[in-house]
Amino acid sequence: MTKTLSSNPWDIIIIGSGIGGLTAANLLAYRGKKVLICESHAIPGGAAHSFTRQGFHFDSGPSFYCGLTSQTPNLNPLTQVLDLVGESLAVVKYDPLGYYHFPEAKLPIYSNLAQYRDAIATTLNPQAAQEFAAFEKRLLSLYDALKNIPAIALRSDWKIIPTLIQNYFPALIQLLPQLPLVNSSVGTVMDKYVQNPFLRRLIDVECFLLSGLPASGTIAPEFAFMLGERTRVGVEYPVGGSGAIINALVRGFEKYGGKLRLNAHVEQIFVKHNKVTGIRLKNGEILNAPIVISNATIWDTYNHLLSPEDLPPAYRQEALETEAVESFMHLHLGIKSEGLDNLTGHHVVVHDSQKPITTPGNTCMISIPSVWDANLAPPNHHLIHAYTLEPYQGWEKDANYKSRKQTKAETLYQAVEKVIPDVRQRLVLNLIGTPLTHARYLRRYQGTYGPAIPAEQGMFPSCHTPITGLYRVGDSTTPGIGVPAVAASGILCANTLQG
Ligand SMILES: Cc1cc2nc3c(=O)[nH]c(=O)nc-3n(C[C@H](O)[C@H](O)[C@H](O)COP(=O)(O)OP(=O)(O)OC[C@H]3O[C@@H](n4cnc5c(N)ncnc54)[C@H](O)[C@@H]3O)c2cc1C
Repeated sequence: MTKTLSSNPWDIIIIGSGIGGLTAANLLAYRGKKVLICESHAIPGGAAHSFTRQGFHFDSGPSFYCGLTSQTPNLNPLTQVLDLVGESLAVVKYDPLGYYHFPEAKLPIYSNLAQYRDAIATTLNPQAAQEFAAFEKRLLSLYDALKNIPAIALRSDWKIIPTLIQNYFPALIQLLPQLPLVNSSVGTVMDKYVQNPFLRRLIDVECFLLSGLPASGTIAPEFAFMLGERTRVGVEYPVGGSGAIINALVRGFEKYGGKLRLNAHVEQIFVKHNKVTGIRLKNGEILNAPIVISNATIWDTYNHLLSPEDLPPAYRQEALETEAVESFMHLHLGIKSEGLDNLTGHHVVVHDSQKPITTPGNTCMISIPSVWDANLAPPNHHLIHAYTLEPYQGWEKDANYKSRKQTKAETLYQAVEKVIPDVRQRLVLNLIGTPLTHARYLRRYQGTYGPAIPAEQGMFPSCHTPITGLYRVGDSTTPGIGVPAVAASGILCANTLQG
């Protein structure tokens, strides 16, 4: 059903308002481009959107952040974009950044590395703390070399070479000796410095939180950057939750003339003679633009938004065969807070040390953001988000859906009980999400966390596509799933389009 054929008021149409789409949109609008974002959902932000039920303001995804406020140097790609468009965030700083609950021991994880090493020495032994110190030193030397080249200067084409040589020559020289590590996995570094099995498991968990993969699959620069930044500036939670970040990005974008359309699901990207011409929305409306940027996942873009004949068959097949990290089970809980005076905000529970941390249900992440921002919950209440990996396959809205959902959520309740033993008696709101919920509200292929492209085994495909005028941003374009990486993907794409 075709409704209208609009004239061509947009230079660029972006499909999706995830952090990847929004950062690209901000830079492009700031540089004078006429940019339209079409977002399928009623709420912007994608995996980072916030939603409200019965007065509880939940995060749907991220809650671990650092470097959200301007400082010199300001290294978080997201904050670099916000700075440019004159937006800022209020944050709450905290340390320890979380408690990790293993069957053998519970230990606090500090941003402050001396305290982190002390916690390892106390919980394990001084030898393990020394191993960690050597591991950390190696990764921080990589961070020190990387941090002098700001993400805001990067691009995804050959012009990166003159840009770096002209503006960052000393930093490039400093980076040269680190090059072997740039393509390595954290596992390779861990194998060299860390023997203690518990410590190796701890590092695996830290990697898993970042990339959805253990140390052997996580790229060293991503981990080095996380470790370096959280040591330098500490961990922060945005006042207002992750939705506050999205609101700031939307404000920045609209300030420079950008337009965000919500409930605007894109059904098709039009391609003529290998050139993008525009898009069609689900309501039949056709919008033209010479450049389209897709923030939808690689699988959604190439499977659903393009026709098979739009792409070279071998390229399409290879792209669609990209492995995906599993989806999630979620709990979003509202609870009575009476007596929970010393509650802390982040916890990771590993139920069984004999099973891999990536086994669905084994590693559970818990965030209680009302500890940092009481306004996220009604007075005398807290809100909790707990999640764990869960495969998408096999989930159907059939007669067993409700009971299966309850059974599968049990591992999450048990994890939360390690932190709040009587949590079930405190419940006032109890929402269980399955991979179907995740796929539906985050509009992501099979509700995946992102591509499982292990370090040392594959390359992320960048913002380019074989179609002239069609680009991609988001977690299936640049290495490292997570907010800094997807913000960097938006920057890389926008800078590449700058010419
Ligand atoms: C449970 C969970 C916890 C996480 N925790 C952290 C954390 O603590 N720290 C951290 O840094 N990262 C974390 N992450 C990762 C981080 O949130 C994501 O990597 C990031 O937000 C992904 O952004 P994106 O731009 O790639 O894509 P998305 O957020 O997926 O955005 C894509 C957007 O495109 C829209 N869209 C898709 N198809 C269409 C269409 N056809 N038409 C119109 N719109 C469309 C979607 O609705 C969505 O808004 C977490 C993720 C999850 C799921």
